[in-house]
Amino acid sequence: MQTIFQTSLTPEQYAAQKHHKQVKPPENCPNCSRAQSLDALAYYHRYVTCLTEVFIIWVRRFLCRQCRVSVSCLPSFAQPYRAINTTTVEAGFSGQAQKREVQHWGVAIDAYWQRFEAHLPTLVRQVGSAFGRVSLPPSAEGFWEQLLERCGDLASATRQLVHQFHTCLFGTYRCHQPGQLQAA
Ligand SMILES: [Zn+2]
Repeated sequence: MQTIFQTSLTPEQYAAQKHHKQVKPPENCPNCSRAQSLDALAYYHRYVTCLTEVFIIWVRRFLCRQCRVSVSCLPSFAQPYRAINTTTVEAGFSGQAQKREVQHWGVAIDAYWQRFEAHLPTLVRQVGSAFGRVSLPPSAEGFWEQLLERCGDLASATRQLVHQFHTCLFGTYRCHQPGQLQAA
């Protein structure tokens, strides 16, 4: 499974400080909810942008001793399966076209928006009116505004979508679904 942890580090700082080595396991396993059951497992690497640059970061994984499900801990500046960092996606979706990084990654951000629009009907079915009343048919602009208003920023919105609703803006992925519990 995947969880997202809040961090004030930028992707560049996270990479430079090798912060992956200091990532602590969640208190409770996101799959079986047992406390203090996660052991360090390994890391995987992925790409994430910072302004107009691209960094490789290492993501911490843990293994639950109780349910044997592995849990990766994604820093909040990164979006699941998307290389453009959270702040830049938020700026692009909010129409801040004057920002250099939004111009730089404009093509990718447009593709992300299309992906968000395509996922929207499913997304709305999953979250219901958790972020406010949804217009019919739902509009991507309307949903985006409500999400930001309710959550404050995309990092916080993504954490809620992943942890509470097992989805994110761009799709519903296996890594956000609870795994099979083993017989106790
Ligand atoms: Zn577990």
